[in-house]
Amino acid sequence: MSSFPRINIPKVLEAQAKYNMFTCVRPVAMHIENPHSLLNMKLCAIKDNICGIPEPTTCGSKMLKNYRSPFKATVLDMLENYGTVIVGKTNMDEFGMGSTNTNSAFGPVYNPSFDKTQKKLSKYTLSELQDNEETYDFPKHIAGGSSGGSAAAVASNVVDFALGTDTGGSVRLPASYCGVVGFKPTYGRLSRWGVIQYAQSFDTVGILARDVDTSKLVFDYLNEFDEKDPTSLLPPLRKRIDELAESRNKGLQKLRIGIPKQLNLDVDSKVRESWIKLISQLFEQDHDIYPVDLPSIEHSIPSYYTLVPSEAASNLARYDGIRYGYRSESDSKDDVLFAPTRDQGFGEEVKRRVLIGNFNLSHEAYISHYLKAQNLRHQIKLDFDKVFRFPNVLTSSQPTSEGMDILIAPTSLSTAPTVEEANSMTPLEVFVNDALTVPSSLAGLPTCSIPMKTPEPIGMQVIGQFGDDNLVLNASRLIQ
Ligand code: GLN
Repeated sequence: MSSFPRINIPKVLEAQAKYNMFTCVRPVAMHIENPHSLLNMKLCAIKDNICGIPEPTTCGSKMLKNYRSPFKATVLDMLENYGTVIVGKTNMDEFGMGSTNTNSAFGPVYNPSFDKTQKKLSKYTLSELQDNEETYDFPKHIAGGSSGGSAAAVASNVVDFALGTDTGGSVRLPASYCGVVGFKPTYGRLSRWGVIQYAQSFDTVGILARDVDTSKLVFDYLNEFDEKDPTSLLPPLRKRIDELAESRNKGLQKLRIGIPKQLNLDVDSKVRESWIKLISQLFEQDHDIYPVDLPSIEHSIPSYYTLVPSEAASNLARYDGIRYGYRSESDSKDDVLFAPTRDQGFGEEVKRRVLIGNFNLSHEAYISHYLKAQNLRHQIKLDFDKVFRFPNVLTSSQPTSEGMDILIAPTSLSTAPTVEEANSMTPLEVFVNDALTVPSSLAGLPTCSIPMKTPEPIGMQVIGQFGDDNLVLNASRLIQ
């Protein structure tokens, strides 16, 4: 049965005017009801690198501003079939590149959690709000990126949950800054079919919600093998994980929780306090806490920022203005093809990544940079295998009973900066800011960022072994 669900459009537009979290809002979101599904009539927002609804899929880029994809992402298709109402597509750092959501061709996303003003907005029209900043004291803090629009949509209560993508932290970091739950499942659990690639050996569809139960509900519905995605986790491996988890969970009363020594970084004092408080709370709940050693994760940032731009440079080669997307009027003049299109169509950060990536893949740097980074990635995976109690079904690791069930670490080095502060950071400072999220991404591990009960939002990550998503979600429920 089709219906026109009642979306509170003024509320959505009001939030959009304040936080700029959507690239498009669907005023009349026609949808098919599915009374058997627990997701029926749930309101959802979709990051704008996930293809599928009739409106454009922009990836936060001028290059794809008017791009209407002929593909429909499997995750989006599944959500529609389960009766979810797609309210709109969300703003993001261009092609997922960034941690601040200030790299979008559609402007930055602002953080609803820092918006203390209670001013009644309904007396203003949308255009009044947008045209005249003086009528309203606009929030100043970033939502974080790259799935900042999805995090802001959840934090401002206009949707029940949102989909984002996490390549190196893009679901977890904005979740931490905005005070919501951000879950990055194991790489390969949720289908990537129809998700525009940034770095395909890292890209993972993730879920943002206000509580762990909603995240788990959405995860349970989407957690299926998809034959259209060549990196989808195969059914025999999914079965093997379930069997192993069933035998392990039988005797699981208290958790063995690891605190990675190498993630004891120079974090802001508020973040450190929160981390210590959480560890004490878990200790009081009678869980066992141990420091753990993961020596190779010190190399996570250089490894990540070598491999990811290399994959990105190759993926973004398709934007030449010839087949689809933006095309500059200067193209094809004076024997120049596609350089003006790429120069005008891409933002600064994307161009930086393409340059770094092409350099790393060049003859000059391939062995010294790219292969070295691949080796480090392998070492990082082995280090994680050594500390977990649960075996890694991909590497057939042989863990011991002294291994950990989960690891706990902060999600971000600080609370959300303002847009001004973010804009004054050097590219290197922005890269380093991902130090706490990229280790799980390099190893494809399920990781959930949980908001702590602090005045300014701070997130803590629960990290589990490859495939151990359910334990991560159950442990996250204990913590929230
Ligand atoms: N900040 C990281 C980057 O720019 C992570 C982004 C992401 O997860 N999409 O690569």
